[in-house]
Amino acid sequence: MTYTRRKFVIGMGTVIFFSGPGQSLLAASNKTSQVRYAMIHDETLCNGCNLCARACRKVNHVPDQGSRLSIAHIPVSDHENETQYHFFRQSCQHCEDAPCIEVCPTGASWRDDRGIVRVDKPRCIGCSYCIGACPYQVRYLNPVTKVADKCDFCAESRLAKGFAPICVNVCPQNALIFGREDSEVVQNWLKNNKYYEYQLKGAGAPHLYRRFGQHLISKDNV
Ligand code: SF4
Ligand code: SF4
Ligand code: SF4
Repeated sequence: MTYTRRKFVIGMGTVIFFSGPGQSLLAASNKTSQVRYAMIHDETLCNGCNLCARACRKVNHVPDQGSRLSIAHIPVSDHENETQYHFFRQSCQHCEDAPCIEVCPTGASWRDDRGIVRVDKPRCIGCSYCIGACPYQVRYLNPVTKVADKCDFCAESRLAKGFAPICVNVCPQNALIFGREDSEVVQNWLKNNKYYEYQLKGAGAPHLYRRFGQHLISKDNV
């Protein structure tokens, strides 16, 4: 491996930091010779505004009871006039060896040829096995359609029409990057930034990369 790896635990998960060139990671994923799409969340730029989550809800018709995307505001330390927060994206990570696909009895949970883990609505019988199997708890059963739903990088609502996922489009901080893993923009970002992956036991490597950042927020603004 040409990158240095450092592991530590946040909650129940393992965080893997990659310092500079990320070619080894990409080489590993390229061995499949499949096109892979990935999302990057740059936490150093994210201000926790939640515009991405609100736009996702609207564009993908997510009911109040469900969520495809949220930005957790995790308080890290408290000061007299400010609180330090970690803004952490919670959404499907399009894992390798995804357990949601493995447990689905009908094949409704599947991975498309871009590596995007999706739900084929007509095939879903609403059994919720996939919801229980996802260690990140980022799937929900839509109470209206009675089928499982989650982030699919806006595959139906946006990608099919040639647009980027809505979260990327609306982010005022340019904190989100989406694209083929072997594209210049993603490759350059991975090579030039120290990033990490948040991986829980039971699921394979995520295709959501993060740059660690925390922000001091005035208590007057909370
Ligand atoms: S994050 Fe959950 S829903 Fe997404 S691919 Fe992984 S196991 Fe499946
Ligand atoms: S709820 Fe639908 S997608 Fe999930 S395991 Fe059951 S049939 Fe498959
Ligand atoms: S829209 Fe951008 S800045 Fe706002 S919470 Fe989402 S990722 Fe962060």
